This record gives sequence, structure tokens and C-alpha cells, in this order.
Amino acid sequence: MSKELFIKEKIKNLINEVNTTIEIVNINKFSNDVTIDLLIENFTHKSKAEAKNNITEVLSKNFDSSLNFKINFKPKVIDKEDSNNKLNNIKNIIAISSAKGGVGKSTVTANIAVTLSKMGFKVGILDADIYGPSMHIMFDLVGRKPLAVDVDGKSKMKPLESYGVKILSIGFFTSMDQAVIWRGPMATKALNQLIFDADWKELDFLLIDLPPGTGDIHLSIVQKLSVNGSIVVSTPQIVAMADARKGISMYKQENINIPVLGLIENMSYFNPPEDNEKKYYIFGKDGVKNLSEDFQIPFIGEVPIVQGLRESGDIGRPGALQEDSDLSKIFDDITKNMIINLTERNTKLPPTEIVKIKTMAGCS
Ligand code: ADP
Repeated sequence: MSKELFIKEKIKNLINEVNTTIEIVNINKFSNDVTIDLLIENFTHKSKAEAKNNITEVLSKNFDSSLNFKINFKPKVIDKEDSNNKLNNIKNIIAISSAKGGVGKSTVTANIAVTLSKMGFKVGILDADIYGPSMHIMFDLVGRKPLAVDVDGKSKMKPLESYGVKILSIGFFTSMDQAVIWRGPMATKALNQLIFDADWKELDFLLIDLPPGTGDIHLSIVQKLSVNGSIVVSTPQIVAMADARKGISMYKQENINIPVLGLIENMSYFNPPEDNEKKYYIFGKDGVKNLSEDFQIPFIGEVPIVQGLRESGDIGRPGALQEDSDLSKIFDDITKNMIINLTERNTKLPPTEIVKIKTMAGCS
């Protein structure tokens, strides 16, 4: 192998190690100047800057300083057919988000999932809360790891199963007190593996538990998957709803355009066990109901503050599994409303387009 070819191969391998989602189009070497042309899916200033930093860092560690690297990015257009085909065994993909953390989005996701499973549907949860996964705890799967299975000659992850729900979470791959400190591209890569390198088999519903905020992971999901609809969870508190508004606006943006199937108000009130009639509106009253009127989005249910719901989450058995309880009734109603709105959406609207980021609008 010539020295030039050797250098090009080494550059390719190093870039692939740093970021597997980037496609290398061309590497040219003229004297000491090396031009590298790359295709990147997430064509935002932030992603490009991060990718460039990581690649420059690894190249400068592995080559002597006489070489000058110039890195160019072009947007990588995702083939919609290709991406859809990979998950064509999944009938409905629903993103569950909250924008603000700690409002009970994961608790609601877990309880809707077990309710769907009780109704006889095949359900999966993708815990995309890469930086703060909790599904492994809520489904009593701490310490368990998915096995690898062979699917048509390719090694895939087999989701773990609990109470009839298939689950993949980054929490299966990190220890309990390990902080996940990843740059955007690393998190996106991990998420890609959970989505595409998994053997989900047939599912009626894949619920995606999104991280708080409206960032990289959200963008990455809508660029890869045809999400049928989203659910937004919020408490009625003003600060939570301010974030929920941002979350709703993100789905409504022209280039994202994912229907919001409904809003859920969590921690609506506290009803003391000794007085059935009394309700304390700890985080405010009817805030999310009003939000749903403002945005003309269906309100699909409210969940009170219930000690047993918190406890059942902590011990890894979602509260809605308690037969004939108030909690199971609440989640039955929410889940039915979600299905009604989803069916209406699937009848009236075409499949959601996978987002292609065409402009830099909205990117800092
Ligand atoms: P998020 O996913 O929005 O960060 P979680 O689902 O992790 O929020 O919930 C945050 C905390 O609040 C958890 O300890 C959970 O058990 C508790 N929690 C959530 N909803 C309720 C509720 N309705 N009643 C009592 N505790 C709740």
C-alpha cells in the first residue's frame, strides 16, 4: 500500500471510530494539505462544530503536525424508504415528551405501556432519555442486559421484556451511579443502535420516552423515524407549562409537523385518603386544560398525586397494573383517549414525513 493510501485509510478508520453516522465522501491529499469531505445527517451549526472538534482532535493525536486538515460538511439526505423499511414491523410510533424534567413523563409512559399491554397490544418502550434513563428501574430490570440475537446474519439486541412490554434503555448499559457524559454525536449514535440494531419484532405501539427539552435527541428521532404522533405531559405549574408550550411548538414547526395526539396533566391535585371529597391543587388548577384550549389540542386526561404511583415506580411495577384500582382506571381512560385520537389521525392524515432539515432556521 502506498504511503498516501495508507494515510487515507487511517483517516477513514479514525473518523469512523469517532462518529459512525458520518459518511466519508472523499479524502484528497496534496502535499501536506488533506481535504476531507463528509456527509452529516444533523446539519446544524452545533453538530458540525462538535463533529469537527472530535475529528480534528483524533487526527491531531494520530498524525504529526506537518499535515493540515481541512474538513468540509454537506448535509446527508436520509432515504425515507430505507429508514421506514427498517422498522416496518412497528405499526405506531408515539413520542412522549414533557420539555420540563421531573413532571412525570416516564411514569406516564410506563403506565400507558402496561395498560396497552393489558388491552392485548404488542408494546415496546424506547427509553430515549439518554442522559437520565429510568425505564430499567420502573420495570424492575436493573442489572439486566439485553442479549444479542442473530437476525438474517446480523447481530441485533433483543429488548428485555417486563409485564409484556419490550424495553430498550441506555440504562441497561450503564451502572446506576454512572453519569452519561456524551457529546451530541455520541448520544445520537447510542440512540441509533437502540432503534435500528434492535430486534423489536412486531409491535402495535412503540412509545418513545424523550428526554426533557427540545434538543439533539428530538431532532435525531424525527429525522429517523416516521412518528405517528406525540403526547405532551406537564404538571399544571406555570414553569412546567412554559416549557410544555415550547415542546408543543417544536412538534408544530413546519419542518417537523408531528401531530400532537393529546396533552396529559400529571400531579393535577392531591386527594388525602381520609377525605374523599377534598382536593389540594398543589401545582395550580386546570393549567394543562387551559393550555389544550389555547393550542386546540385534545386534553386526554389528568393524573392526581398518588403516593402509590411513586412507590410502584420505585419498586419496578407500574401502578396501572393494580387491577380495579383508581390508578388502573385513570390510565385505562387516558390510553383509550390516546388510541381514539391516534386512530383518527391515522385515518385522516398521511404517514408523518421523516424530517429533512432543509434550513438553518431555529438552529443556534
Ligand atoms: P420525568 O420523566 O418527567 O423526569 P418521572 O416520571 O421520573 O418524571 O417522575 C418524577 C418523580 O415523580 C418520580 O419519583 C415519580 O415516581 C414521581 N411521580 C410522577 N408522577 C407522579 C404522581 N402522579 N404522583 C406521585 N408521584 C409521581
